[in-house]
Amino acid sequence: MTQSYDLIVIGGGSGGIAMANRAARYGASTALVAAGPLGGTCVNAGCVPKKIFWNAAHLAGQMKMAEEYGFDAVTPRCHWELLKQRRDAYIERLNDRYAQGLNGNGVTLIRGHARFSGAHQVRVDDNTLEAEHILIATGGQPVWPDIPGAELGITSDGFFTLEKAPRCVAVVGAGYIAVELAGVLNALGSDVSLVMRRKHFLNDFESMLRENLMDAMLHQGINLLAQRQVREVEKRADGLCLHFQDGDCLGGLDAIIWAIGRRPNSADLDLELANIAAAPQGFIPVDAFQNTQASGIYAVGDVTAGPALTPVAIAAGRRLADRLFDAQTARHLDTHLVPTVIFSHPPIATIGLSEAAAQEQYGEEAVKVYQTIFTPMLRAFSAEPEKAAMKLVTVGREEKIIGLHAIGDGVDEMLQGFAVALHMGATKQDFDDTIAIHPTSSEEFVTMR
Ligand SMILES: Cc1cc2nc3c(=O)[nH]c(=O)nc-3n(C[C@H](O)[C@H](O)[C@H](O)COP(=O)(O)OP(=O)(O)OC[C@H]3O[C@@H](n4cnc5c(N)ncnc54)[C@H](O)[C@@H]3O)c2cc1C
Repeated sequence: MTQSYDLIVIGGGSGGIAMANRAARYGASTALVAAGPLGGTCVNAGCVPKKIFWNAAHLAGQMKMAEEYGFDAVTPRCHWELLKQRRDAYIERLNDRYAQGLNGNGVTLIRGHARFSGAHQVRVDDNTLEAEHILIATGGQPVWPDIPGAELGITSDGFFTLEKAPRCVAVVGAGYIAVELAGVLNALGSDVSLVMRRKHFLNDFESMLRENLMDAMLHQGINLLAQRQVREVEKRADGLCLHFQDGDCLGGLDAIIWAIGRRPNSADLDLELANIAAAPQGFIPVDAFQNTQASGIYAVGDVTAGPALTPVAIAAGRRLADRLFDAQTARHLDTHLVPTVIFSHPPIATIGLSEAAAQEQYGEEAVKVYQTIFTPMLRAFSAEPEKAAMKLVTVGREEKIIGLHAIGDGVDEMLQGFAVALHMGATKQDFDDTIAIHPTSSEEFVTMR
Protein backbone atom coordinates (compact mmCIF):
# COMPACT_ATOMS: atom_id res chain seq x y z
CA MET A 1 0.00 0.00 0.00
CA THR A 2 1.19 3.53 -0.73
CA GLN A 3 1.02 6.11 2.05
CA SER A 4 0.55 9.73 0.99
CA TYR A 5 1.81 12.85 2.79
CA ASP A 6 2.24 16.54 2.03
CA LEU A 7 5.94 16.25 2.90
CA ILE A 8 8.44 13.41 3.19
CA VAL A 9 11.74 14.22 4.91
CA ILE A 10 14.66 11.84 4.32
CA GLY A 11 17.10 12.02 7.23
CA GLY A 12 16.57 12.57 10.97
CA GLY A 13 19.46 14.97 11.58
CA SER A 14 19.60 18.71 12.23
CA GLY A 15 18.09 19.89 8.92
CA GLY A 16 15.51 17.13 8.50
CA ILE A 17 14.07 17.34 12.02
CA ALA A 18 13.95 21.16 11.87
CA MET A 19 11.94 21.17 8.66
CA ALA A 20 9.64 18.28 9.63
CA ASN A 21 8.66 19.88 12.93
CA ARG A 22 8.01 23.31 11.46
CA ALA A 23 6.07 21.97 8.46
CA ALA A 24 3.91 19.80 10.74
CA ARG A 25 3.20 22.79 12.99
CA TYR A 26 1.91 24.62 9.91
CA GLY A 27 -0.49 21.70 9.40
CA ALA A 28 1.36 19.74 6.67
CA SER A 29 1.00 15.95 6.99
CA THR A 30 4.64 14.96 7.36
CA ALA A 31 6.64 11.72 7.43
CA LEU A 32 10.30 11.64 8.49
CA VAL A 33 12.45 8.66 7.50
CA ALA A 34 15.47 8.11 9.75
CA ALA A 35 18.15 5.52 9.06
CA GLY A 36 20.28 6.45 12.07
CA PRO A 37 19.70 7.69 15.61
CA LEU A 38 17.62 10.88 15.84
CA GLY A 39 19.62 14.09 15.91
CA GLY A 40 21.99 12.86 13.18
CA THR A 41 25.69 13.70 13.14
CA CYS A 42 25.51 16.74 15.42
CA VAL A 43 23.91 14.96 18.35
CA ASN A 44 25.46 11.51 17.97
CA ALA A 45 28.91 11.92 16.40
CA GLY A 46 29.58 15.64 16.04
CA CYS A 47 28.96 18.89 17.90
CA VAL A 48 27.42 17.47 21.09
CA PRO A 49 29.85 14.66 22.06
CA LYS A 50 32.72 16.85 20.82
CA LYS A 51 31.69 19.79 23.02
CA ILE A 52 31.38 17.51 26.06
CA PHE A 53 34.95 16.37 25.50
CA TRP A 54 36.02 19.96 24.91
CA ASN A 55 34.41 20.97 28.21
CA ALA A 56 36.38 18.23 29.98
CA ALA A 57 39.61 19.33 28.29
CA HIS A 58 38.89 22.97 29.17
CA LEU A 59 38.32 22.04 32.82
CA ALA A 60 41.65 20.19 32.85
CA GLY A 61 43.35 23.40 31.69
CA GLN A 62 41.54 25.48 34.34
CA MET A 63 42.54 23.02 37.08
CA LYS A 64 46.19 23.32 36.06
CA MET A 65 45.92 27.11 36.04
CA ALA A 66 44.33 27.15 39.52
CA GLU A 67 47.78 26.75 41.09
CA GLU A 68 48.76 30.14 39.65
CA TYR A 69 45.88 31.63 41.66
CA GLY A 70 47.13 30.19 44.96
CA PHE A 71 45.28 26.86 44.99
CA ASP A 72 47.11 23.62 45.89
CA ALA A 73 48.56 21.97 42.79
CA VAL A 74 46.32 19.35 41.13
CA THR A 75 47.23 16.87 38.45
CA PRO A 76 43.89 16.35 36.73
CA ARG A 77 43.20 12.80 35.58
CA CYS A 78 40.05 12.27 33.57
CA HIS A 79 38.34 8.88 33.82
CA TRP A 80 37.49 8.56 30.14
CA GLU A 81 35.13 5.57 30.64
CA LEU A 82 33.08 7.55 33.18
CA LEU A 83 32.97 10.64 30.97
CA LYS A 84 31.89 8.51 27.99
CA GLN A 85 29.17 6.78 30.03
CA ARG A 86 27.72 10.13 31.15
CA ARG A 87 28.02 11.56 27.63
CA ASP A 88 26.23 8.55 26.10
CA ALA A 89 23.43 8.78 28.67
CA TYR A 90 23.03 12.50 27.87
CA ILE A 91 22.86 11.76 24.15
CA GLU A 92 20.24 9.06 24.72
CA ARG A 93 18.12 11.61 26.53
CA LEU A 94 18.49 13.96 23.55
CA ASN A 95 17.51 11.16 21.13
CA ASP A 96 14.34 10.60 23.19
CA ARG A 97 13.61 14.33 23.30
CA TYR A 98 13.75 14.50 19.49
CA ALA A 99 11.35 11.54 19.21
CA GLN A 100 8.96 13.23 21.65
CA GLY A 101 9.21 16.51 19.72
CA LEU A 102 8.33 14.85 16.42
CA ASN A 103 5.49 12.93 18.05
CA GLY A 104 4.17 16.08 19.73
CA ASN A 105 4.08 17.90 16.40
CA GLY A 106 2.29 14.99 14.70
CA VAL A 107 5.20 13.93 12.45
CA THR A 108 5.08 10.24 11.45
CA LEU A 109 8.50 8.72 12.21
CA ILE A 110 9.53 5.84 9.95
CA ARG A 111 12.74 3.99 10.84
CA GLY A 112 14.72 2.73 7.86
CA HIS A 113 16.73 3.65 4.80
CA ALA A 114 14.86 5.64 2.13
CA ARG A 115 15.57 5.64 -1.59
CA PHE A 116 13.67 7.17 -4.47
CA SER A 117 11.41 4.89 -6.53
CA GLY A 118 9.88 7.68 -8.67
CA ALA A 119 9.72 11.44 -9.10
CA HIS A 120 7.61 11.93 -5.96
CA GLN A 121 7.92 8.48 -4.48
CA VAL A 122 10.20 6.96 -1.88
CA ARG A 123 10.66 3.33 -0.74
CA VAL A 124 11.57 2.29 2.80
CA ASP A 125 11.93 -1.50 3.00
CA ASP A 126 8.57 -2.78 1.65
CA ASN A 127 6.70 0.49 2.13
CA THR A 128 6.08 3.06 -0.55
CA LEU A 129 5.54 6.70 0.42
CA GLU A 130 4.54 9.56 -1.85
CA ALA A 131 4.32 13.31 -1.42
CA GLU A 132 4.15 16.53 -3.40
CA HIS A 133 7.20 17.76 -1.47
CA ILE A 134 10.30 15.71 -0.57
CA LEU A 135 13.29 16.98 1.40
CA ILE A 136 16.69 15.29 1.17
CA ALA A 137 18.59 15.91 4.43
CA THR A 138 20.85 12.87 4.53
CA GLY A 139 24.02 14.60 5.78
CA GLY A 140 27.51 13.27 5.23
CA GLN A 141 30.12 10.82 6.48
CA PRO A 142 33.88 10.84 7.09
CA VAL A 143 36.23 10.12 4.18
CA TRP A 144 38.74 7.25 4.51
CA PRO A 145 42.12 7.50 2.76
CA ASP A 146 42.73 5.10 -0.11
CA ILE A 147 46.04 3.67 1.16
CA PRO A 148 47.19 0.25 2.41
CA GLY A 149 46.34 -0.27 6.09
CA ALA A 150 43.81 2.61 6.27
CA GLU A 151 41.37 0.27 8.08
CA LEU A 152 43.80 0.11 11.02
CA GLY A 153 42.81 3.70 11.82
CA ILE A 154 39.47 5.20 12.82
CA THR A 155 37.53 8.34 11.83
CA SER A 156 35.79 10.87 14.06
CA ASP A 157 32.90 8.36 14.29
CA GLY A 158 35.34 5.83 15.79
CA PHE A 159 36.82 8.45 18.09
CA PHE A 160 33.44 8.89 19.77
CA THR A 161 33.19 5.14 20.47
CA LEU A 162 36.67 4.81 22.07
CA GLU A 163 36.32 3.18 25.49
CA LYS A 164 39.61 4.52 26.81
CA ALA A 165 42.00 7.36 26.03
CA PRO A 166 44.68 6.44 23.51
CA ARG A 167 48.16 6.70 25.01
CA CYS A 168 49.87 7.79 21.80
CA VAL A 169 47.77 8.98 18.87
CA ALA A 170 48.19 10.56 15.43
CA VAL A 171 45.42 12.73 14.04
CA VAL A 172 45.73 13.05 10.26
CA GLY A 173 44.10 16.13 8.72
CA ALA A 174 44.15 19.91 8.69
CA GLY A 175 40.53 20.95 9.02
CA TYR A 176 38.70 22.04 12.13
CA ILE A 177 37.76 18.50 13.18
CA ALA A 178 41.44 17.41 13.13
CA VAL A 179 42.50 20.47 15.13
CA GLU A 180 39.70 20.03 17.69
CA LEU A 181 40.33 16.32 18.27
CA ALA A 182 44.09 16.84 18.59
CA GLY A 183 43.53 19.57 21.20
CA VAL A 184 41.06 17.53 23.26
CA LEU A 185 43.25 14.41 23.28
CA ASN A 186 46.31 16.41 24.29
CA ALA A 187 44.49 18.17 27.13
CA LEU A 188 43.16 14.84 28.41
CA GLY A 189 46.66 13.37 28.59
CA SER A 190 47.41 11.60 25.29
CA ASP A 191 50.67 12.03 23.43
CA VAL A 192 49.41 13.66 20.20
CA SER A 193 50.86 14.19 16.72
CA LEU A 194 48.89 16.21 14.18
CA VAL A 195 49.88 15.21 10.64
CA MET A 196 49.06 17.57 7.78
CA ARG A 197 49.79 17.57 4.07
CA ARG A 198 50.54 21.27 3.76
CA LYS A 199 52.52 23.77 5.83
CA HIS A 200 49.53 24.82 7.93
CA PHE A 201 46.18 23.67 9.19
CA LEU A 202 42.92 25.64 8.79
CA ASN A 203 44.08 26.80 5.39
CA ASP A 204 40.83 28.57 4.49
CA PHE A 205 40.82 30.66 7.67
CA GLU A 206 42.29 34.07 8.51
CA SER A 207 46.06 33.48 8.77
CA MET A 208 46.37 35.28 12.12
CA LEU A 209 44.13 32.62 13.69
CA ARG A 210 46.08 29.60 12.52
CA GLU A 211 49.47 31.18 13.30
CA ASN A 212 48.47 31.89 16.90
CA LEU A 213 46.86 28.48 17.30
CA MET A 214 49.92 26.72 15.89
CA ASP A 215 52.10 28.53 18.46
CA ALA A 216 49.72 27.57 21.27
CA MET A 217 49.54 23.91 20.21
CA LEU A 218 53.32 23.63 19.94
CA HIS A 219 53.62 25.20 23.37
CA GLN A 220 51.13 22.68 24.76
CA GLY A 221 53.37 19.87 23.51
CA ILE A 222 51.45 18.73 20.41
CA ASN A 223 53.77 17.34 17.76
CA LEU A 224 52.84 19.24 14.56
CA LEU A 225 54.07 17.32 11.51
CA ALA A 226 53.65 19.55 8.45
CA GLN A 227 54.08 18.66 4.77
CA ARG A 228 53.71 14.93 5.39
CA GLN A 229 51.71 12.75 3.03
CA VAL A 230 50.76 9.37 4.51
CA ARG A 231 51.62 6.44 2.22
CA GLU A 232 50.74 3.39 4.31
CA VAL A 233 49.84 2.17 7.79
CA GLU A 234 51.63 -0.83 9.24
CA LYS A 235 50.85 -2.85 12.36
CA ARG A 236 53.99 -3.63 14.35
CA ALA A 237 54.64 -5.31 17.68
CA ASP A 238 54.99 -1.90 19.39
CA GLY A 239 51.86 -0.41 17.81
CA LEU A 240 50.73 1.21 14.58
CA CYS A 241 53.16 2.97 12.30
CA LEU A 242 52.44 5.74 9.78
CA HIS A 243 54.74 5.66 6.75
CA PHE A 244 55.12 8.94 4.85
CA GLN A 245 55.84 9.55 1.16
CA ASP A 246 59.23 11.07 2.07
CA GLY A 247 60.37 7.73 3.61
CA ASP A 248 60.03 8.91 7.21
CA CYS A 249 57.69 7.17 9.66
CA LEU A 250 55.90 7.70 12.98
CA GLY A 251 55.56 4.55 15.09
CA GLY A 252 54.42 3.34 18.52
CA LEU A 253 50.88 4.63 17.98
CA ASP A 254 47.89 3.00 19.60
CA ALA A 255 45.40 4.99 17.50
CA ILE A 256 45.31 6.82 14.18
CA ILE A 257 42.40 9.16 13.51
CA TRP A 258 41.62 10.09 9.90
CA ALA A 259 40.09 13.58 9.80
CA ILE A 260 40.69 14.26 6.12
CA GLY A 261 37.25 15.48 5.12
CA ARG A 262 33.62 14.43 4.77
CA ARG A 263 31.49 13.41 1.83
CA PRO A 264 27.74 13.75 1.30
CA ASN A 265 25.37 10.77 1.72
CA SER A 266 23.85 10.82 -1.76
CA ALA A 267 25.16 7.69 -3.47
CA ASP A 268 22.48 5.22 -2.36
CA LEU A 269 19.37 7.37 -2.77
CA ASP A 270 18.68 6.32 -6.41
CA LEU A 271 18.57 10.02 -7.26
CA GLU A 272 18.27 9.32 -10.98
CA LEU A 273 14.72 7.99 -10.37
CA ALA A 274 13.84 11.49 -9.13
CA ASN A 275 15.62 13.12 -12.10
CA ILE A 276 18.40 14.58 -9.95
CA ALA A 277 22.09 14.46 -10.87
CA ALA A 278 24.55 14.87 -8.00
CA ALA A 279 27.71 16.96 -8.51
CA PRO A 280 30.95 14.97 -9.03
CA GLN A 281 31.83 15.14 -5.30
CA GLY A 282 28.34 13.84 -4.48
CA PHE A 283 26.79 17.12 -3.34
CA ILE A 284 23.20 17.72 -4.42
CA PRO A 285 23.04 21.03 -6.30
CA VAL A 286 20.45 23.49 -4.95
CA ASP A 287 19.52 27.11 -5.64
CA ALA A 288 19.19 29.81 -2.96
CA PHE A 289 15.71 28.43 -2.09
CA GLN A 290 17.00 24.84 -1.55
CA ASN A 291 15.29 23.68 -4.79
CA THR A 292 17.03 20.80 -6.58
CA GLN A 293 16.79 20.34 -10.35
CA ALA A 294 13.56 18.35 -9.82
CA SER A 295 10.37 20.22 -9.04
CA GLY A 296 9.06 19.55 -5.50
CA ILE A 297 12.35 18.02 -4.31
CA TYR A 298 14.65 20.00 -2.03
CA ALA A 299 17.92 19.47 -0.16
CA VAL A 300 19.43 21.08 2.96
CA GLY A 301 22.47 20.59 5.19
CA ASP A 302 25.67 18.65 4.62
CA VAL A 303 24.33 16.83 1.56
CA THR A 304 24.52 20.21 -0.23
CA ALA A 305 27.70 22.21 -0.78
CA GLY A 306 26.78 24.98 1.74
CA PRO A 307 28.63 25.56 5.03
CA ALA A 308 28.56 22.22 6.89
CA LEU A 309 27.28 23.47 10.23
CA THR A 310 24.26 22.49 12.31
CA PRO A 311 22.67 25.96 12.57
CA VAL A 312 22.97 26.34 8.78
CA ALA A 313 21.10 23.04 8.19
CA ILE A 314 18.44 23.99 10.75
CA ALA A 315 17.94 27.50 9.36
CA ALA A 316 17.69 26.18 5.78
CA GLY A 317 15.10 23.56 6.84
CA ARG A 318 12.97 25.98 8.83
CA ARG A 319 13.02 28.65 6.13
CA LEU A 320 12.00 26.10 3.53
CA ALA A 321 9.03 25.06 5.69
CA ASP A 322 8.09 28.76 6.07
CA ARG A 323 8.16 29.16 2.30
CA LEU A 324 6.28 25.99 1.34
CA PHE A 325 3.71 25.75 4.12
CA ASP A 326 3.29 29.31 5.43
CA ALA A 327 3.28 31.26 2.16
CA GLN A 328 6.43 33.23 3.07
CA THR A 329 7.37 33.14 -0.58
CA ALA A 330 10.68 35.04 -0.43
CA ARG A 331 11.99 33.24 2.68
CA HIS A 332 15.38 31.64 2.14
CA LEU A 333 18.76 31.26 3.78
CA ASP A 334 21.48 33.88 3.34
CA THR A 335 24.91 32.35 4.02
CA HIS A 336 27.13 35.34 3.44
CA LEU A 337 27.82 35.98 7.17
CA VAL A 338 27.97 32.67 9.02
CA PRO A 339 29.64 32.84 12.45
CA THR A 340 31.87 29.86 13.22
CA VAL A 341 33.68 28.69 16.32
CA ILE A 342 36.51 26.19 16.38
CA PHE A 343 36.68 24.47 19.73
CA SER A 344 40.44 24.44 19.90
CA HIS A 345 42.55 25.36 22.96
CA PRO A 346 42.24 28.33 23.04
CA PRO A 347 39.08 28.58 20.93
CA ILE A 348 38.75 30.47 17.67
CA ALA A 349 35.78 32.64 16.66
CA THR A 350 35.40 33.95 13.13
CA ILE A 351 32.86 35.58 10.84
CA GLY A 352 33.10 37.20 7.43
CA LEU A 353 36.13 37.72 5.21
CA SER A 354 39.76 37.19 6.14
CA GLU A 355 42.13 40.08 5.44
CA ALA A 356 43.48 38.28 2.34
CA ALA A 357 40.01 37.45 0.99
CA ALA A 358 38.82 41.04 1.57
CA GLN A 359 41.83 42.45 -0.31
CA GLU A 360 41.19 40.06 -3.17
CA GLN A 361 37.52 41.01 -3.34
CA TYR A 362 37.77 44.80 -2.79
CA GLY A 363 41.40 45.67 -3.60
CA GLU A 364 44.15 46.48 -1.09
CA GLU A 365 43.39 50.22 -1.01
CA ALA A 366 39.80 49.77 0.12
CA VAL A 367 40.55 47.44 3.03
CA LYS A 368 41.69 48.64 6.44
CA VAL A 369 42.55 46.26 9.24
CA TYR A 370 42.68 46.74 13.02
CA GLN A 371 44.34 44.14 15.18
CA THR A 372 45.61 43.48 18.66
CA ILE A 373 47.46 40.79 20.55
CA PHE A 374 47.47 40.78 24.34
CA THR A 375 47.66 38.67 27.50
CA PRO A 376 44.16 38.09 28.90
CA MET A 377 43.95 39.00 32.60
CA LEU A 378 43.05 35.38 33.38
CA ARG A 379 46.59 34.45 32.33
CA ALA A 380 48.28 37.32 34.21
CA PHE A 381 50.14 35.01 36.61
CA SER A 382 51.46 32.53 34.00
CA ALA A 383 55.19 32.46 33.35
CA GLU A 384 54.52 31.99 29.62
CA PRO A 385 50.97 33.25 29.18
CA GLU A 386 48.84 32.11 26.25
CA LYS A 387 48.00 35.22 24.24
CA ALA A 388 44.70 36.34 22.75
CA ALA A 389 44.54 37.99 19.32
CA MET A 390 41.77 39.84 17.52
CA LYS A 391 41.34 41.35 14.09
CA LEU A 392 38.70 43.54 12.46
CA VAL A 393 38.62 43.73 8.66
CA THR A 394 36.87 46.85 7.33
CA VAL A 395 36.07 48.13 3.85
CA GLY A 396 35.44 51.54 2.33
CA ARG A 397 35.52 55.07 3.76
CA GLU A 398 32.77 54.26 6.24
CA GLU A 399 34.88 51.28 7.43
CA LYS A 400 32.09 48.75 7.36
CA ILE A 401 33.18 45.66 9.28
CA ILE A 402 33.24 42.69 6.94
CA GLY A 403 35.42 40.34 8.98
CA LEU A 404 35.87 39.74 12.69
CA HIS A 405 38.35 37.14 13.93
CA ALA A 406 39.57 36.18 17.39
CA ILE A 407 41.51 33.52 19.24
CA GLY A 408 41.68 33.36 23.02
CA ASP A 409 39.85 32.38 26.20
CA GLY A 410 36.11 32.98 25.93
CA VAL A 411 35.94 34.11 22.30
CA ASP A 412 33.59 31.20 21.57
CA GLU A 413 30.92 32.85 23.73
CA MET A 414 31.74 36.40 22.52
CA LEU A 415 31.07 35.90 18.83
CA GLN A 416 27.28 35.55 18.74
CA GLY A 417 26.60 39.17 19.77
CA PHE A 418 29.18 40.56 17.37
CA ALA A 419 27.61 38.45 14.61
CA VAL A 420 24.35 40.35 15.16
CA ALA A 421 26.25 43.66 14.82
CA LEU A 422 27.91 42.57 11.56
CA HIS A 423 24.60 41.28 10.26
CA MET A 424 23.15 44.75 10.87
CA GLY A 425 26.01 46.37 8.93
CA ALA A 426 28.09 47.77 11.82
CA THR A 427 31.00 50.10 11.05
CA LYS A 428 34.21 50.70 12.99
CA GLN A 429 32.62 53.94 14.29
CA ASP A 430 29.70 51.92 15.73
CA PHE A 431 32.21 49.74 17.57
CA ASP A 432 34.13 52.83 18.79
CA ASP A 433 30.88 54.43 20.02
CA THR A 434 30.01 51.37 22.10
CA ILE A 435 31.01 51.65 25.76
CA ALA A 436 33.49 48.94 26.71
CA ILE A 437 32.91 46.38 29.47
CA HIS A 438 35.90 46.43 31.78
CA PRO A 439 37.89 44.39 32.62
CA THR A 440 37.16 41.81 29.92
CA SER A 441 38.86 40.55 26.79
CA SER A 442 35.86 41.43 24.63
CA GLU A 443 36.37 45.15 25.31
CA GLU A 444 39.38 44.94 22.98
CA PHE A 445 36.94 44.69 20.07
CA VAL A 446 35.56 48.18 20.78
CA THR A 447 38.83 49.86 21.73
CA MET A 448 41.12 48.93 18.80
CA ARG A 449 43.18 51.72 17.30
C1 LIG B 1 33.24 15.69 14.61
C2 LIG B 1 32.27 16.74 14.16
C3 LIG B 1 32.12 17.90 14.89
C4 LIG B 1 31.22 18.87 14.49
N1 LIG B 1 31.11 20.00 15.24
C5 LIG B 1 30.21 20.96 14.88
C6 LIG B 1 30.06 22.12 15.69
O1 LIG B 1 30.72 22.30 16.71
N2 LIG B 1 29.15 23.04 15.30
C7 LIG B 1 28.39 22.88 14.17
O2 LIG B 1 27.56 23.74 13.86
N3 LIG B 1 28.54 21.79 13.37
C8 LIG B 1 29.42 20.82 13.72
N4 LIG B 1 29.55 19.69 12.94
C9 LIG B 1 28.78 19.60 11.68
C10 LIG B 1 27.31 19.18 11.94
O3 LIG B 1 27.29 18.00 12.70
C11 LIG B 1 26.61 18.99 10.60
O4 LIG B 1 26.76 20.15 9.82
C12 LIG B 1 25.10 18.73 10.79
O5 LIG B 1 24.88 17.59 11.58
C13 LIG B 1 24.44 18.55 9.41
O6 LIG B 1 23.09 18.24 9.57
P1 LIG B 1 22.31 17.45 8.42
O7 LIG B 1 20.87 17.49 8.82
O8 LIG B 1 22.69 17.97 7.10
O9 LIG B 1 22.86 15.95 8.47
P2 LIG B 1 23.06 14.93 9.64
O10 LIG B 1 22.98 15.56 10.97
O11 LIG B 1 24.28 14.17 9.32
O12 LIG B 1 21.79 13.98 9.53
C14 LIG B 1 21.56 13.17 8.42
C15 LIG B 1 20.77 11.94 8.88
O13 LIG B 1 20.25 11.30 7.72
C16 LIG B 1 20.34 9.90 7.91
N5 LIG B 1 20.31 9.28 6.57
C17 LIG B 1 21.29 9.24 5.65
N6 LIG B 1 20.85 8.61 4.53
C18 LIG B 1 19.55 8.26 4.79
C19 LIG B 1 18.56 7.59 4.02
N7 LIG B 1 18.78 7.20 2.77
N8 LIG B 1 17.35 7.36 4.59
C20 LIG B 1 17.09 7.80 5.84
N9 LIG B 1 17.98 8.44 6.61
C21 LIG B 1 19.20 8.68 6.08
C22 LIG B 1 21.65 9.71 8.65
O14 LIG B 1 21.63 8.48 9.34
C23 LIG B 1 21.65 10.92 9.60
O15 LIG B 1 21.04 10.58 10.82
C24 LIG B 1 30.42 18.68 13.32
C25 LIG B 1 30.55 17.50 12.58
C26 LIG B 1 31.46 16.53 13.00
C27 LIG B 1 31.59 15.28 12.19
